[in-house]
Amino acid sequence: MTKPSDTTLSYLAIGSASFYLPLTFWASNAWDIGNPTFILLYGTGVSLVGMAAFWLLSKTRARDLSAALSISLSLMVLMSWQRLPLRQTVLSLLLLAATVFIVVRVGPSIQRGIAAAIVLLFGVAAVAQVTISHALEAAEIPLLALTAREPADATEVIEDVLVVVVDSYPSLAWANQRFGHDTSFIELSLEDAGFTTPAVGWSQHSNTSFSVSALMEMKPIVDAASDDPWSNSRNLGSIIGGENLVASTLRSAGFQQIQIESGWHLGQCSRTDVCIEASWLNETTWSLLEPSVIGGWLEAEYGSWIVPASKSVEARLHELRPVFGNGEHDYVFAHVMLPHGPYVVDSTCNTVPPHTNGNTVPDSAIRSQLSCTDLVLSRIIEVTNETTAVLITSDHGVKSTGQLQKSPDSWTKEDIADAFTILLSYRLPESCDPPGYNTNTIVMSAIVECATTFDAPFNDGDLLIGLRHHSWIGPLSQREIELGLASGRSMGEVNG
Ligand SMILES: [Zn+2]
Repeated sequence: MTKPSDTTLSYLAIGSASFYLPLTFWASNAWDIGNPTFILLYGTGVSLVGMAAFWLLSKTRARDLSAALSISLSLMVLMSWQRLPLRQTVLSLLLLAATVFIVVRVGPSIQRGIAAAIVLLFGVAAVAQVTISHALEAAEIPLLALTAREPADATEVIEDVLVVVVDSYPSLAWANQRFGHDTSFIELSLEDAGFTTPAVGWSQHSNTSFSVSALMEMKPIVDAASDDPWSNSRNLGSIIGGENLVASTLRSAGFQQIQIESGWHLGQCSRTDVCIEASWLNETTWSLLEPSVIGGWLEAEYGSWIVPASKSVEARLHELRPVFGNGEHDYVFAHVMLPHGPYVVDSTCNTVPPHTNGNTVPDSAIRSQLSCTDLVLSRIIEVTNETTAVLITSDHGVKSTGQLQKSPDSWTKEDIADAFTILLSYRLPESCDPPGYNTNTIVMSAIVECATTFDAPFNDGDLLIGLRHHSWIGPLSQREIELGLASGRSMGEVNG
């Protein structure tokens, strides 16, 4: 077998160094990344920069491998700049210079050895990791049988449907009671626009991927949720991305389905008539670019990917204003990643530095996020008109994971309120049957049942499913908790 030439080995080393971080990121998120385009583009872009530098250096007297090894090391340092133990720029640069100084001085055979190690450890191994993780994690989260998709007719009571999901917004009663959030602005904004806003709304799942899927299927989609909510959730991504009961029913009744991507990895369009893409700065691009040498600038400019992603969703909704009330049936779905950690916006949605209180988030940081979300929602409801049925709902409570992984013996009502009580607000024409219970899946059903001849699957809205089996929570607890919450404050001020 002929040995690769120094030049071939050089290009392979530069390529391996460039693709290592993108590929290992893809491997650790195997099936959840529905579209690896950016991952591959990022690796290719960095490779091209490295190879251009190599070509330039080869015009000088630099030996092939000395140049290639220096470039490979530099690329890896620049791509993981923010994760290096030495954050100070000067020390990092000195360390890089010292390493390069040594590498270019060792003999040709040692250089070939280092280059081969880079190709094996960072190139071949990363490709193997991507392959193995996809093979190991091929099994999807097992779902309960989904309700059959049956065609329905429009009733002509509702012209358009808008569903806006916010993320981690607690019920208004709990937002006030627990965080001291002044809910009067959002209550008045919603009331003025004709919305009904119960003081306590409920989600049936405590985690985003399950909860948004359940909303779109109008019933819980698992009865024993995975302990690991981040295992392969391709099937949930498909439901969330538009292949779901709400969309198929409304589409069969002549509604145009318009899906706005959230920037979250499971928020990509699957089946829809119109897909409106997320901001370029989304969860995947952020995860790759934030550790790099431009990460500090990204953080200062945007705080977190959720900020540009949320602003982009809001802007797209405003651009959709003409579809509401244009005489055609339209169904618009949007997921705004607010109020969501990291808590890096102030109450007017400007980027602020992250709080520096260790792991505990100060109440004031959460209040700022809630106020920003209130502002965004108050502007979003203006794009609709009275012929639009609107559902505004959080996906889950203020804490989506954590406390429901502990033994049920130690649960408090507060734990359940944290996980399951949500902001819920809706506007339905008066001739529609009001929802029977303040659970977001039930309100979703009420909208689809009023807009079409569809009969929703049985769901009394009482089943709360944490990260484990629903029997952990018990079917009666939510009404008890609601009474408990209600007695904690004056509920008379809350609409509904
Ligand atoms: Zn969520």
